[in-house]
Amino acid sequence: MRQRLTARAVVVGDRSGTVVPDAVVDVEDGRIGWAGPAADAPPAGDAEVVALPGLLVPGLVNAHSHAPMVLFRGQGEGLPLDRWLREVMWPREARLTPDDVEVAMTAASAELLRGGVTTSVEMYFSPERIAAAVGATGARAVIAAPMVPLPGMPPLEEQLAAAVDLARGVPDDGSVEYGLGPHAAYTVPLPLLRRAAELAREHGMLLHLHVAETATEGAGLLAEHGLSVPALLAAHDVLGGRVLAAHCVHMDDGDLELWAEYDVAVAHCPASNAKLASGVARVRDMLDRGIRVGLGTDGPASNDGLDLLADVRLAAQLARLREASATALTAAEAFWLATGAAADAIGRPDLGQVATGRRADLVHVDTRDLGFEPVGDPADLLTHLVWSGVPRLVRDVWVGGRQVVAEGAVTTVDAGALRAEVAERAARLAG
Ligand SMILES: [Zn+2]
Repeated sequence: MRQRLTARAVVVGDRSGTVVPDAVVDVEDGRIGWAGPAADAPPAGDAEVVALPGLLVPGLVNAHSHAPMVLFRGQGEGLPLDRWLREVMWPREARLTPDDVEVAMTAASAELLRGGVTTSVEMYFSPERIAAAVGATGARAVIAAPMVPLPGMPPLEEQLAAAVDLARGVPDDGSVEYGLGPHAAYTVPLPLLRRAAELAREHGMLLHLHVAETATEGAGLLAEHGLSVPALLAAHDVLGGRVLAAHCVHMDDGDLELWAEYDVAVAHCPASNAKLASGVARVRDMLDRGIRVGLGTDGPASNDGLDLLADVRLAAQLARLREASATALTAAEAFWLATGAAADAIGRPDLGQVATGRRADLVHVDTRDLGFEPVGDPADLLTHLVWSGVPRLVRDVWVGGRQVVAEGAVTTVDAGALRAEVAERAARLAG
């Protein structure tokens, strides 16, 4: 089926912030067949033409998430990290069932789509149930099967083998991809990290882990090995291949040089880092060194939302405050971090931009809103999107050319029923 979308303007999702006014996007077999100015468009032929009054932008790519944690949203508000984990999160997670994960992920996926996020990198228990959930909503996920030494979990070697097995037999439409998610260097033994990295390289899988989220988490490893976590990972052959490191807040120049040398990508999570007072990552320094960076919401229990547009805004604000410079991260760069750059960071060049050949993951944003006036130049539309963009303005969403949000509502699942189910399960898990 061929479809032609016409829009007031297209935001490409590239580094320079290209905005194409009066634009056409042709969709064929789930991919973008042509995109550009209406004046240059090929004949529409027999394509169904849909005229959109607003902006057409790439589906956003959330580079780090534990979305099923919507079940724990807002719980333990204001507690310091260690008490929040011990008293609130871990007791709830100990009661969690695979059914809970699937329901929670379905609800979270609907919420992500509603906010224009079409792909998320998920690291959470019951990865096959996360895949089932995005199958129901029509979203995409790269699911890093988690490896953590928790009571009740199988031995880490078994977790690793099970994760590699999952990767066989996924659909070829790019809707679900499995990666390996060893939690972090301070929680997973180094030989296991090395083995996970080896297997990820062998199978072309994403290796996703947390690095340098807090100032103190690497202290034990530094005392024991005399190396920072990035240097330790390099020394143990964990780096190389598709490696995506979440947070990377506390990185010195040497650590950043290693990231550049091994082409390690960063999932920058400004809202989570701010909420937990972890610090502000050196995004400008990372980009200047050619390090790939994408934005992530992190889990909704530490954000407390899944609103990646809010992270776009916060990333620009925090980078500017950190560098004491209003040019430290431009609005165009901030939006790129949630689209084209995020797709690069997770190793998915088929996503993240409105460009010929990429998958037709598209978001229609309503610009008939006071927050979008005035518009003197088409570039103002991107500026307004970054500084005033909110999920409420997302009208329509397509994933691989299939419409999954229409007139602001998710069409694939029953959001009202999911709300009730999340509330009921969250109450049970709270004990
Ligand atoms: Zn995380």
